[in-house]
Order: sequence, then C-alpha cells, then structure tokens
Amino acid sequence: MTAACLMTTYQPLALSFTRGLGTRLWDQQGREYLDAVAGVAVTNVGHSHPRLVTAISEQAGLLLHTSNLYSIDWQQRLAQRLTQLSGLDRAFFNNSGAEANETALKLARLHGWKKAIEEPLVVVMENAFHGRTLGTMAASDGPSVRLGFQRLPGDFLKVGFGDLAALEAITQQFGPRIAAVLLEPIQGESGVLPAPPGYLKALREHCTRHGWLMMLDEIQTGIGRTGAWFAFQHEGIVPDVMTLAKGLGNGVPIGACLARASVAQLFTPGSHGSTFGGNPLACRVGCTVLDIIEEQGLLQNAAQQGTHLLARLRVELREHPQVLAIRGQGLMIGIELARPYRDLALRAAHEHGLLINVTRGKIIRLLPPLTLDAKEVEMIVRAITRLVD
Ligand SMILES: *Cc1c(COP(=O)(O)O)cnc(C)c1O
Repeated sequence: MTAACLMTTYQPLALSFTRGLGTRLWDQQGREYLDAVAGVAVTNVGHSHPRLVTAISEQAGLLLHTSNLYSIDWQQRLAQRLTQLSGLDRAFFNNSGAEANETALKLARLHGWKKAIEEPLVVVMENAFHGRTLGTMAASDGPSVRLGFQRLPGDFLKVGFGDLAALEAITQQFGPRIAAVLLEPIQGESGVLPAPPGYLKALREHCTRHGWLMMLDEIQTGIGRTGAWFAFQHEGIVPDVMTLAKGLGNGVPIGACLARASVAQLFTPGSHGSTFGGNPLACRVGCTVLDIIEEQGLLQNAAQQGTHLLARLRVELREHPQVLAIRGQGLMIGIELARPYRDLALRAAHEHGLLINVTRGKIIRLLPPLTLDAKEVEMIVRAITRLVD
C-alpha cells in the first residue's frame, strides 16, 4: 500500500499494527510490542478488552444511530454516571476532544452574553493544547499548531501556566470582559507539565471571586489516567465545566462536555447540537469503559503503578547527564531530555519492543494502559534506560 493518496498531515513511523490485546500490540510481521502510548491516552482499559468487544458487537446488532431527535437511553445512562463521578450536573456529548472544547467555549460565550459582556474573553495558558478546530487552535499555543492559519478567533488572553501574578495582571487590565478560563490540569502535548502545587485551587478561588467559569480540559488527564477519575480530584476542587474525550471511548470516538447546572442551562433547545454525538454505540462503550475501570480497580492500579514507574525511572536515570526532569502523575509521565535523540520512538520499538511517544523533540511521554503491571513497569524502565545511554 502507499500513502500517496493521503493528505500530508502526519509523519507516521514505519510501523503498522494488525492486532492488540491488553497492553500489547502486534505488527504485520507478528512481532509483539508493549504499548506505552495507548493511542495517545485513549486505550486506557487496554486493547480488545473482551467486555468492550461484547458491548460493541451486541450494540452493532441492536442499534447504532437514531439521532438526537429521539431520546437515547445509553446517553442518559452515561450522563448520569459521569455527573455522579465528577460532581458536575449535566453532560453534552460530542465525537472528539476538540468538539467538546468548542462546546465549553460556546458556554463561555453564553456566560459572557448573559452578563452583558459585549465581547467576552477567555483566559488560556502558554503551551496549552486544546485541539485543531479554528476555535480550539486559537485557544492553543505554539507555532506548530497555529502557523499559517491566521486569522484565528481572537477572543483569548494568554498567561503563563502556573503564574498567579500574570493572572492578577490581566484581571486588572481586562477583568470585566473576562468570562472564563480554559486549561489542562497537566499539560499533555507540551510534555507532561503539571500545574504547580496550589495553582488550581488558587485559580478556582479567583474564578469564583470574579464570576468567571473555570473550565478544565481533562481530555488527556481524565478517565483514570492520573490515578483519579479526573485530575482535579487530586486538588479538592470542582470546576464549572470539564471536557473529556480520548479514554472515555477507548478508541470509539466520543467527547463530552460536563457543566454545573447553572452553566449547563445557558444552552436552550437549538443552541447547540451534533448529529453523531451521544449515539447509542459510543455511549454504551463509555458506560462499559467506566464499569471496567471500576470493577478492575484501575484507578488504584494507575496510581500505584504510576508512582512505582516514576520512582524507578528516577532511581535508574538519577544523575544521568541527558535527563533534565522526570515528572507526571499516575500513568502520565514525561521524561525531558537535554537534547533530541535521533529516531528515539523508532529505536524504542525496534530495539526494545516498546512503543513510546516523543513530544517537542526531546520529551518522552509515557501513557500506557491503566492495566500496566509491575513486570511491565520494569520492562519500560529497562528499555528507557538503555535508550538514553
Ligand atoms: C487530544 C487533546 C485534545 C483534542 O482532542 P481531539 O479528539 O483530537 O479533538 C484536546 N485537548 C487535550 C488536552 C488533548 O490531549
């Protein structure tokens, strides 16, 4: 086969898989790999989970799609589960992360409109990544996402991630025009950068004081990735709006935007919608993913194996001249190198049978399925140690 008929948006590695099971993938030659990427934080319960295989095939034989002209039982069930788990009140379903963030941004606009702000602004963070639509691209940072796409929607104010003084400064300058803040609790695409301790709590208080919506993009950090259902739960806060996608469908496309009741009711019939969003297949899959995480104790496992992996990496790579930092929470771990290594991801695959992601040229990102066990932690540690030697 040739890729000549595809648009050149990706530069895929010369690797292609035909099959997956749990934490493992097999390529076209039948070689086995340990998957520490999980489709970029997507296959959180592992590949081809038998419960998901059953749910998907059963639902395919019953009903795939009716549209939101009719009520959808699985959609209501998933909304109930997610609101119970998060402490938020209502859900809207999309097909992707970017769309879920667009939903959040539309709520921010309505929130501003209700407060009679003529052109409401949304505060976003340096190094943020929120998606590839025009709106979410504008909310993201960095030339790799934005270059050449001007002119983007301009209703965003960018501050340093974790910088409370900068937040105070833009509040002084633009305060009454600001409707919301949108941020990732741990910045994923820019290299697993956690918010500094206390920042989310301070931001929560700031938003409450000024009547801004606190909107958390948990598309990568959510659904157990950090060892809690949602990363904000480590901080003892609840946002006003949260977006989800990736791990919620374990590979079946789905996105969700959750909100407090007072915010959710800004939407009225006709003010937002989606043809596919909330379809019976995706929502049944979402419910099944949550069941699996609960029944297999995967939050605890992610917390435990994540702490273990982080500690082991820190021991093995301690004082390594090329390793600048090892950071993260649960099974979302970044290893920042002093310089780019040639073909790092491909070498990891070929030489060690390990799939890793390398972001920003020199940050190894580990996002294995939440089912990772202690033996696999050692496999990862051994492979990474050899790779950076
Ligand atoms: C992946 C990601 C998105 C975009 O999700 P898509 O499903 O690709 O649109 C948005 N925000 C964060 C934090 C992400 O990791």
